[in-house]
Amino acid sequence: MNSTATPRAAAVPVPAAASVDGRSTSSSDGDAFVATALDGAALAAMVELVRSGASSTRPELVSRSGLGRKIVTQRVDQAIELGLIVEGELAPSAGGRQARTLRFRAEAGRVLVAQIGASEFSAGLADLDGNLTEVSHEDWDIAAGPESTMARIHDHFETLSRRARLDRPWAIGIGLPGPVDFSTARLVAPPIMPGWDGFSARGWLREHYDAPVWVDNDVNLMAIGEWTKSPLRDERDLLFVKIGTGVGAGMIVRGRLVRGQSGAAGDIGHTHVTDDPTKVCRCGKVGCLEAVASGWSMLLEATARAAESPLLSAAMQQRGSLALGDLGEAARVGDPLATELIGTNAHAVAEVAANLVNFMNPGVLVIGGGVLRAGVQVVDEIESVVRARATDLVARDLAVRAATLDHLEGLQGAALLAVENLFSPSTLPRWIAQGTPVGHAVMLQRYGRAFA
Ligand SMILES: [Zn+2]
Repeated sequence: MNSTATPRAAAVPVPAAASVDGRSTSSSDGDAFVATALDGAALAAMVELVRSGASSTRPELVSRSGLGRKIVTQRVDQAIELGLIVEGELAPSAGGRQARTLRFRAEAGRVLVAQIGASEFSAGLADLDGNLTEVSHEDWDIAAGPESTMARIHDHFETLSRRARLDRPWAIGIGLPGPVDFSTARLVAPPIMPGWDGFSARGWLREHYDAPVWVDNDVNLMAIGEWTKSPLRDERDLLFVKIGTGVGAGMIVRGRLVRGQSGAAGDIGHTHVTDDPTKVCRCGKVGCLEAVASGWSMLLEATARAAESPLLSAAMQQRGSLALGDLGEAARVGDPLATELIGTNAHAVAEVAANLVNFMNPGVLVIGGGVLRAGVQVVDEIESVVRARATDLVARDLAVRAATLDHLEGLQGAALLAVENLFSPSTLPRWIAQGTPVGHAVMLQRYGRAFA
C-alpha cells in the first residue's frame, strides 16, 4: 500500500459535535446532530484505516478501530456508496469465514500540482494516494514574474485536466523556489524571484479554482517526496540538500517536516561562508553560500571563463548561454574547466552540509536538484567531505545518496502535501459525509496541517 509520512490511521479523532461544521447543538435536534458527528468520525476512521493500508477487511477494521461490528459494517457500506472504498477479492482465510478485502479508491479524486523552479517548472495530476498520473514540463524563466508564470501554469493545469477528463480538482499543491510563509502561503523577499515578493500563489489560484491550495518551499516538498515515495525509503530522519539554481535544505525528523517558526528552516543558501568581497550574492549580501556555490554562480563563472574550454565555448556559441547539463556533459568527457567548477562547487556545499549533518544527525543525506545533471560525481565529492568532517557517532549510521525520483521529488511532494491535507485527522471528518471535499476549500485550508 501507499506509505506516507504522517502517522494517521489510528489517530482519527472523534470530533466534538459542535466543531464539525460550526452548528450549534443547543437546538432540539442536538442529540441527532451528535449522532451524525459520531457517524462522520467513524466513517473517517474507516476510510483512513483502509487508505493507509492498516486494515483491509471488515474484521480488521473492527479490531483496529475498537468500534462495534455493526457500526463498522454500516460505515463501510456508506464509504462504498460514496465511492471511496470498493470491495475486492476474498482475503486468505484465517481459520473462519473468508472476509472480502477492501481497497481505497485512489481514483475517486485528483489533485493538481506544480513545482516551480528558477528556470523551469513541472505540472501534474496525482491520485488520492499521492501518485503522479500525468506530468508536463516547460523551460521557463521565473523572472518573467508571477502573473505570466501563474497564467502559464494555469494553461498546463487546463490541458492536463482536459486530457484526464477532470472536472474539478480536489486540491492544489504548489512548490516555489523561495521562502514561503507557511501560514499565509506568501513569498517573503525571495532572492532569485524578482517581482514575487509578497505574492500569493494561493490567492491567484483560488480565483480560478474552488479548491484548497497549499504552497510550500520547493526543497521542503522535495524532502517530503523523497522521504515518502523513494524506492530506497526507510523511516530514518532525512536531510535533503538541493543544489539547483539556488541552494536549500529540507529536513524530515520523526516523520515530520521541520519548517521552523515561520517556514524558513533550511534556507541555507544565504549562510555566510566567505569574506571575499568579490562574492556578491543575488540577495544583495556578500559571501553567501550561493555566491560561492550554486547553479547560478557556477554558470556565471563558466560563462566568464568559457574561453578556457573548447567544449563550453562551442555550447555557448550554439545556444547563446550555458546550462548545468552542458557542464555535466563536458565533465563526463574530462573537460578540465567543467571538472574544476563542479568540484569546487560541490566542495563548498559539502562544507555547509557537513555542519548540518553534525548538527542534525540524520540517517540519510540526499543530494538533489539540477546539479545532478552535472553528474553524480557531485554526490561522491559531497560524501567524502561530509564523512571527513562528521563526528564518529554521526557518521556511523549515515547514508549519503542522490535523489531517486528523477527530478520529480518536488512535484511528488506537492501531491503528498495536497492529499495529506485532505485526509488529515483535522480535515477528513469535516467533509467525509459528503464523499467529496469539493465546496469546502476555505475550511480545508484553515485546518490542513499535514507533515507539520
Ligand atoms: Zn545571499
